Amino acid sequence: MSERDATEDTTADNGSETLFERIIAREIPADIVYETDTTIAFRDIKPQAATHVLVVPKTRYRNVAELAAADPRLLADVIATAGKVAELEGLGNGYRVVFNTGADAGQTVFHVHAHLLGGEQLGPFGR
Ligand code: IMP
Repeated sequence: MSERDATEDTTADNGSETLFERIIAREIPADIVYETDTTIAFRDIKPQAATHVLVVPKTRYRNVAELAAADPRLLADVIATAGKVAELEGLGNGYRVVFNTGADAGQTVFHVHAHLLGGEQLGPFGR
């Protein structure tokens, strides 16, 4: 366990700061691949595909449903950034955009983020 994990709740399902706010503030290093005024995209630390980038709005909402209800334009920005990163990463053959939402989906960081997955033939959904 890293020092960071030992001293803080970086996942924050309790309203406090998450790991992603600290990446946005450049307090924690990340491999940033693209950024706009409203979004940031960086490589997942544990990639689940040849290309695995997280797209995060700079304003925090817990999940995609809260984001959609509160600020649909920001949700559109997240999707547009995912499309731009797909282009930059050469994913012309296809890609997947996934929002894990809640415990059953395996959401661990409660600052909404899109997983952009591609760069190889992806498997089916589900278990
Ligand atoms: P979730 O499980 O859908 O909430 O996705 C959280 C993602 O954040 C996981 O895929 C993790 O691998 C990823 N992650 C955790 N810490 C870091 C980090 O420091 N940099 C980049 N990605 C991270």
